[in-house]
Amino acid sequence: MNTKLLTLLFIIFSTNILLSDDLMNPTSYSKDLYQIPILDGTYKDDITHPDEFLGFGIGERVAAPWQITSALKQWSTQSDRIKIIEYAKSHEGRPLHAVFISSPDNINNLDEIKSDLSALSDARNINDRQAKSIIDKLPAVAWMAYSIHGNETSGADGALAAIYHLIASTDDDVLNMLNNMVIIVDPLMNPDGRARFAKSLEQYRGTAPNYDDQSLLHTGDWPYGRTNHYYFDLNRDWFYLTQPETKGRVKLINEWRPQILVDGHEMGPQDTFMTGPPREPINKNIDTDLIKWGNVFAQDQGNAFDERNWRFYTGEWHEDLYPGYSFYVQFRGTLGILYEQSRMAEDGVRRPEGTIQSYKESVHHQYVSTLVNLESLLNNSKEMYKDYWDGRKYNVSKDSEYANQTFVVLPTDNNTRLNTLANKLKAQDIELFQNTKDIKVENVTLQSGQLVTNYTIPAGSMIIPNRQPEAPLIAAILEFDADIDLDVLVEERQKSLKSGSSIMYDTTAFNFTMMYGLDAVTVDEHVDSNLETWKPSPVASEITKDAVIWSTNGEDDNSVAFAARLMEQNVEVRIIDKESTLSNHTLPRGSIVVLQMDNPDITNLQNLVKTVSNELNISVVSIESGFGPEELPDWGGRHFRLLERPQIAMLSHEGFNSYDVGVSWWSLDHHLGIRHSLINASLASYGDLRRYNTIIIPSGRAIDDYTVDTLFEWVSQGGTLIAHNRSTRFLTSENGIGSVKQLQNTFDESEKYNFDLLREIYSQYENVDKDKTNKNIVDFGISYPWEELDGALSESDLKSRDKWQSIFMPSGSFVAGRIDNEHWLTFGTPNTIPVLYSNLPILMARSYVDTPVRIGQMVSNNEIEEPRVINWSSLPAGNDLNVRMSGLLWPEASQRIANSGYLTRERIGDGQVILFSGEPNFRGATLGTNRLWLNAIVYGPGLGTRSRINP
Ligand SMILES: [Zn+2]
Repeated sequence: MNTKLLTLLFIIFSTNILLSDDLMNPTSYSKDLYQIPILDGTYKDDITHPDEFLGFGIGERVAAPWQITSALKQWSTQSDRIKIIEYAKSHEGRPLHAVFISSPDNINNLDEIKSDLSALSDARNINDRQAKSIIDKLPAVAWMAYSIHGNETSGADGALAAIYHLIASTDDDVLNMLNNMVIIVDPLMNPDGRARFAKSLEQYRGTAPNYDDQSLLHTGDWPYGRTNHYYFDLNRDWFYLTQPETKGRVKLINEWRPQILVDGHEMGPQDTFMTGPPREPINKNIDTDLIKWGNVFAQDQGNAFDERNWRFYTGEWHEDLYPGYSFYVQFRGTLGILYEQSRMAEDGVRRPEGTIQSYKESVHHQYVSTLVNLESLLNNSKEMYKDYWDGRKYNVSKDSEYANQTFVVLPTDNNTRLNTLANKLKAQDIELFQNTKDIKVENVTLQSGQLVTNYTIPAGSMIIPNRQPEAPLIAAILEFDADIDLDVLVEERQKSLKSGSSIMYDTTAFNFTMMYGLDAVTVDEHVDSNLETWKPSPVASEITKDAVIWSTNGEDDNSVAFAARLMEQNVEVRIIDKESTLSNHTLPRGSIVVLQMDNPDITNLQNLVKTVSNELNISVVSIESGFGPEELPDWGGRHFRLLERPQIAMLSHEGFNSYDVGVSWWSLDHHLGIRHSLINASLASYGDLRRYNTIIIPSGRAIDDYTVDTLFEWVSQGGTLIAHNRSTRFLTSENGIGSVKQLQNTFDESEKYNFDLLREIYSQYENVDKDKTNKNIVDFGISYPWEELDGALSESDLKSRDKWQSIFMPSGSFVAGRIDNEHWLTFGTPNTIPVLYSNLPILMARSYVDTPVRIGQMVSNNEIEEPRVINWSSLPAGNDLNVRMSGLLWPEASQRIANSGYLTRERIGDGQVILFSGEPNFRGATLGTNRLWLNAIVYGPGLGTRSRINP
């Protein structure tokens, strides 16, 4: 169908909406609320007015994604001021467009403009004189982006109006602007979310306008329109780059290096309009020039709002510590400007003062802000380029604060994860190197915060010396800790104590290496000798026909997918639960092995192994003998454990945290690519759960008693139940399943928990006094770990402390998880794993429950001569406990969570319950804890439940 016909049909439909004979006309229409026209210039006749595409006046209702796309397509055939680039497709197949608008001359010259911008960004290659001549001829460049949250609709409608205005206007000021500026409009950053919200607007529209912001017309349905297809918040993804929308967008923005990036949002319906520079905490790696320019733009925008009698504010809740917002661009020298317009859905919202603010007015705010910001840029572009150039020179100078800082990611066999990191960093123009020989340096900081002198960087490390053009960004995303001012800490602490509120808007810990669970160090010098450009380790597979075993390295994350994808194709797969050496190949614990003799009926086994390893880009070795020398495992022994194909269901829908549902769903599709079912949780009590052997309960609501009984029965029969965060909180409550409890319910038995903890700790000790052991006379001098304790706390002390400590729970920090390195859930995991911690259920388990990950890294310290008490637990002499790794974690919170469980696994009947205290797949970026989760799903049915023999 052609566009004209579509438009015509839409007009027919939309004017007929809900006007059938049996419905009565309303007494008024929302479109009459606001009479001021948005488009008030003089326009060329040969450019189609947006009202014609829409079938309603621009700003009167919400434009659907397809309407915006068809308008762009048509305009690009009508105007020589516009060029459209499709930079990505959403998961649901909708296009994302960057609309370049400028004078026809500039439009024909985009490549040269882009290459000048690129030249200006690298001060190693040009001098001041060359920079000046580039700045003299460069037009201003603006990136104007809208509605990254799909139900925050006014931005995209404002953008549509602005695009038309800029390409159709005959006014001199517009023509002058286009001669001197390239405007890149990204009108619709999240088309899938907007489509979901637009659909709910259709569904909940009655005849009369609805001004009640609590109604379904305004809220929409779970999972709501804010997020993309997999319920990701795209405005947290700017440097983790997990979603196609972000990947495509950031690539293009990074090529263009615009001077400003506007990001048009909406906020609470009863609010007004917020813009301008953020308040503290502000990430210290942002150039202070940008704060200065932010104030200039905010002043102009404020004046324009004053003139029209529109209320607004700056700062307040708007902070800027986390680098994954659109403010990401600030680390690269672009001024980020945020709009937050109060949310009107489609009709408008009645406010406490009795007035109704219309949707059209909210669109008008976005439109006016857009044009005013462009005007400000036009006036200040040259000065901003000069500041930018100074910043770029600073970044590569030997006097910068970054000049003597080198980030090092230590070697690992987890090639999949390391390559993922490399690809994310390269996508942000970060230069990576590696060393073929050891490098000696004087001082390094470990992730634990410990300083080490005379350190040797092992050969094969990934090395990122931070004397390079993107230095501030590199620091922002790789430094272990983002510095927060003392003033901010004081205010935060006061607020926590006074009202339990926080001035931290997001997580305070986010660095890439901890997110990814990759071990790293920071060197306080410029490491630049004996380096070569980083490249991925080659994938070397030798899959020979006469091998008895094919194996892949269990440290590589993709080994989990290797097992899962083969099992889905009916291949029997085993896993080695202890390091082995077979035919001279060392196979770490968790390595996947495929045995010919397990699969006598599969004739194309060799090809299947080859195909799957190629898909996953992992190495496979061929093994001719199942004999492990000396005491190492052999192939017929108990360490070659048979896996069972996971048949996965995940509970979902109303009441569950949509982010956690979405990211878990995405993780299955992204990391494994195997079949699974999302099921409505309300079906769990009467559906046929026998179809599944693995059920995931993402963070969410309380489950009714009947469903709990059903799940308990299902677990007892051999199921693997996996829960996260709030669902874990529920399952560890009185009406839950299993014996794991939350800290606050264990103070009457704290000695028992400490007893079990001490057993676990002492089980790692290697010192046995043989003479003493062999004495026949009873030793009267034995000391018992709990008897030497000074200052053990009473139940009531513990309760009071816990109440106080609970005030200080973090909004997101990394804490050290110590792992049980013999447990199958920790395959592929280093001994200390950074765990993202917020106000989570604090898990307590007795020794008959496995606790494969516990909070706190034990560090030996010989100066500690006595055992010491931390709340309910104690540490033997000679030990310290590291808890905080990154982000704001008050000492009280550290004490509270020390030695508690992050991950537990309990056998129940023939099955098991696996509890994650947190959300292991946070933002698709916590690859360290994601691995634990993948292990639970793919290996759980085979390793943690009683295996079934079908008669
Ligand atoms: Zn938003």
